[in-house]
Amino acid sequence: ELTVENLHLNYGTNPVLKGVSMQLHKGEVVTLLGPSGSGKTTLLRAVAGLEGPCAGRITIGDRVVYDGSTNKEIPVEDRNLGLVFQSYALWPHMTIFDNIAYPLKLRKVSSTEVKSRVQAVLEQLGLGHLGERYPHQLSGGQQQRVAIGRGLVYNPPVLLLDEPLSNLDAKLREEARVFLRRLIVELGLSALMVTHDQSEAMAISDRILLLNNGVIEQQGTPQEMYAAPTSLFTAEFMGSNN
Ligand code: ATP
Repeated sequence: ELTVENLHLNYGTNPVLKGVSMQLHKGEVVTLLGPSGSGKTTLLRAVAGLEGPCAGRITIGDRVVYDGSTNKEIPVEDRNLGLVFQSYALWPHMTIFDNIAYPLKLRKVSSTEVKSRVQAVLEQLGLGHLGERYPHQLSGGQQQRVAIGRGLVYNPPVLLLDEPLSNLDAKLREEARVFLRRLIVELGLSALMVTHDQSEAMAISDRILLLNNGVIEQQGTPQEMYAAPTSLFTAEFMGSNN
């Protein structure tokens, strides 16, 4: 569903991604895990088309969306991805319904269809009765569900999530993990998600990619990462509570 090959990205003269290769298969939930500054968000933003890499290749479905050797670069709005990013906050002046409807309106979906799709998403999120409210009238957890709903309302095959549960307290976070995982699986989506929380990655992922200073240190199922680390870095990171 998504393939990244030998991706390099610099901020100025500072190399941040140093040859990252990875795959996300259909129906998988993969997390990018790693310490602060290891390049997780940068990799996600490069896949989204929000940062320009300097070499490598990114393929989504059967389309090459970035190719460093030919300077091909498809813009973010044409990559057909669902984005749940902190930098894409909810619009405070729009109702919950309109916030979720926004990506459909951008795609010129008819208003009858917008209505039925948004209502269906609100139901799935357990927010069926809150469509007319404004973001500030919702709890933090509910707002996060709305942001997730906006990311998946037009059925993108691949969902990219950057720390989608980070604003929740510990108890809500655990509930939200289960909810998010179930939603992704039920909708048949594939998801690539950034987190710095190893227990969250263990709970939600089919596979974990552990980043260390711009390269993938190790990848595998949560069990493999925990029980069979191939380096001290992996052992320490997976065993710790970062
Ligand atoms: P965190 O868990 O703290 O969000 P991360 O693994 O997501 O960390 P990135 O945000 O990808 O890390 O950052 C990787 C490196 O790139 C860091 O050293 C950071 O300081 C640097 N960096 C990130 N964004 C920019 C930017 N816009 N300009 C310059 N340097 C940047």
